[in-house]
Amino acid sequence: MTTAATRLKDKICVITGGASGIGLASARRLTEEGAKVVIGDLDEVRGPEVAEELGGHFERVNVADEEEVKNLFARTVEHFGRVDVAFNNAGINPTDDNSILTTDIEAWARVQTVNLTSVYLCSKYALEHMVKQGSGSVINTASFVALMGAATSQISYSASKGGVLSMSRELGVQFAKDGIRVNALCPGPVNTPLLRELFASDPVQAQRRLVHCPGGRFAEPEEIAAAVAFLASDDSSFVNASTFTVDGGISSAYVTAE
Ligand code: NAD
Repeated sequence: MTTAATRLKDKICVITGGASGIGLASARRLTEEGAKVVIGDLDEVRGPEVAEELGGHFERVNVADEEEVKNLFARTVEHFGRVDVAFNNAGINPTDDNSILTTDIEAWARVQTVNLTSVYLCSKYALEHMVKQGSGSVINTASFVALMGAATSQISYSASKGGVLSMSRELGVQFAKDGIRVNALCPGPVNTPLLRELFASDPVQAQRRLVHCPGGRFAEPEEIAAAVAFLASDDSSFVNASTFTVDGGISSAYVTAE
């Protein structure tokens, strides 16, 4: 019988952005469930530490660079013989991406490249191997902002996540007959160092967001990681091309309880 503790036994899982936040929590959860993780990250300090903690493998990669992404998946297959799961999760959320009126073309392009082009590249080079294997699960991190508009705008970020969502849907449809599933994960706001800093430095701005969360709180990274483990595993064998929303209900909320 497959239990939660073993359902990812021996699965080879590449996690971009695995050195921090949602990626880190997911690397830990997938390892607990029996997977071998490959951490693909720019962070050459935390990345190797995490890989060592988990008995996994670290590859330094800039997900916006085609050659480096190609090598990430090629080296994974070289080392482990296959790639079962690609969790394409690395992303950025810089402060110079805000209102369309004040976001310049450089900030726009940087966010598009790191958040959207990267998912195109990671999906492309993971799929190459998965098509040969005839199996695989691709999980691309979008966001609840792909589903909703915010007056506190981050224009390029929101547009990039919309792109991740529709690209993932199309890939899921195209590659289903190859035995591959592609899903877009849409987390709601997550309690990360970035949000905690915002809370500390600007409680009014934080409250402006928190009031929209039906449960009155943001997610913990481990709650998103639990969804990643499900999408990575065969428990989700008929979940494909989905908008997989893990947002505590924020995208369904009109008026929340006091
Ligand atoms: P984080 O900042 O904690 O971690 C991101 C990781 O990605 C870091 O380890 C960083 O080194 C790495 N990274 C950044 N740019 C990279 C690049 N070019 N190449 C390789 N690695 C790179 O972020 P997080 O909050 O865990 O977010 C992870 C994903 O979830 C992102 O795509 C983000 O947009 C999305 N998301 C986050 C939230 C949230 O509230 N935190 C909500 C919805 C979606």
